[in-house]
Formats: sequence, structure tokens, C-alpha cells
Amino acid sequence: MTEKSYYSNDPDLETVRENYLRITENIEKAKLAANRTDAVRLMAVTKTVTPEKINYAVSLGAFLLGENRVQEFLGKREFYDKKSEIHFIGGLQNNKVKYIIDKVSMIHSVNSLKLAEEIDKRALSAGKVMDVLLEINIAAEESKSGILPEELPELLARCREMKNLRPRGLMAIPPLDVNGSNERYFSAMQRLFEDNRTEGFDALSMGMSHDYEDAIKYGSTIVRIGSSLFGYRK
Ligand SMILES: *Cc1c(COP(=O)(O)O)cnc(C)c1O
Repeated sequence: MTEKSYYSNDPDLETVRENYLRITENIEKAKLAANRTDAVRLMAVTKTVTPEKINYAVSLGAFLLGENRVQEFLGKREFYDKKSEIHFIGGLQNNKVKYIIDKVSMIHSVNSLKLAEEIDKRALSAGKVMDVLLEINIAAEESKSGILPEELPELLARCREMKNLRPRGLMAIPPLDVNGSNERYFSAMQRLFEDNRTEGFDALSMGMSHDYEDAIKYGSTIVRIGSSLFGYRK
């Protein structure tokens, strides 16, 4: 965490630099291939990664950080470069909302009315309006969180009535289908997103290390990348 590390020949950091350059280039190529001129943001997913490495990525231009573990985030955040912007992307228990409400600018994982209500309540206390994404269980998997596509209109309508919560779009973690591809789920997410799109409802968070280029093809505006940027997690 010393200043020196930003300029050192640490091979670990050098790998992050190479990865970052490759990923940003791939994002541009994927946008071009999809004829897109709108913005796609690269989110650096920080779980298990040291603040030193995270700050190095920020120094390269990866300003948007994605957190999915409340405890780990609370322990690391004081070391983060203040230029970073932080979104919460992991499973969030209602009783943990109060710890992160004033520390993140968006929550990607709203998957129930109860959670939305808790965020609205805590945001009111914190004197802010929280941007959120609604998490969709697009393949209706038993093991996954998120609401089913058919539950979206109701939850979205309820969220839109809340004063301290602002639904900004959708998020998904689609599985691979039998053909080893998740394009059909990305495509289904794109349709669902477009069907509900309004001004200000403009974020589609999907695509991770191994499928972000496909996600961009189907309209993703935020790709969440961990292991291919920072290296494999133990
Ligand atoms: C870990 C994680 C990612 C990043 O996964 P990689 O495959 O390492 O890129 C993205 N989104 C969520 C919600 C995650 O938990």
C-alpha cells in the first residue's frame, strides 16, 4: 500500500495491467462488433483481492469497484483510493443494509420487496436516494437468487413508488445452457430490459470474466469482472 508500489515492477501488478489493457480492448471490439456507441462500464470485482491491487487497477482507470461481501468490504474500504466508485453486487441480507447504505452508490442485487423496503428506509435515514438494480433469475434456477421475469412488473412498480430508492435497471448471473453458451439468457435479459426501459432505467448489469463479450452483444452496460482482471481466486 505504499506509494512506491504503483510504479514497481511487481509481477502481480504487471499482470493486472496486462489484463486490464486486454479486457478494455476486448470491450471496445465487442461494442464495435455489436454496432454499439453507448457506454459499457468495466467493473472490477474485488472479492479476495488486496487493496493494493485494487488501487492499482483504479490507477489504470478501473474506477468502478464491485463488492459482494459486507464484512470483507467494511474491512478494506478505508484503504481504497477515493477516486473509486463502489457498487454492491452480492447477496444482501436485510440486516446488513444499514452497514453499506452510506458507502456505496448502487446496489445490484435487489431480489425481494422486503429488501427494497429496507433499502428505502435506510436510505431515508442516511439522507440519500439509492440507485438499485433488480436481480433476475433468468433461467429460473432453484439454486439462484433473483426474481423471476414474470415477477418484475409488480416489484418494479412497487420500487418506483418508494421515495428513497431509484430502480435503474436489471442485473443477472445467467448460467450456461446445454450448449455451453449463455447467449439465450443474455438475449432474454435484453428483451426484458428493453420492455421495461424508460428514461433513467438504463443499466443492464451482466457478463463476467468468461462471457462479458457475449453480454455486450446483448446490450450489457456494466460488465463485472474479477478473475480475468485480478487473477484466479483461491
Ligand atoms: C465474483 C463475481 C463476479 C466476477 O466473477 P469472475 O468470473 O471472477 O469475473 C461478478 N458478479 C458477481 C455477482 C460476483 O460475485
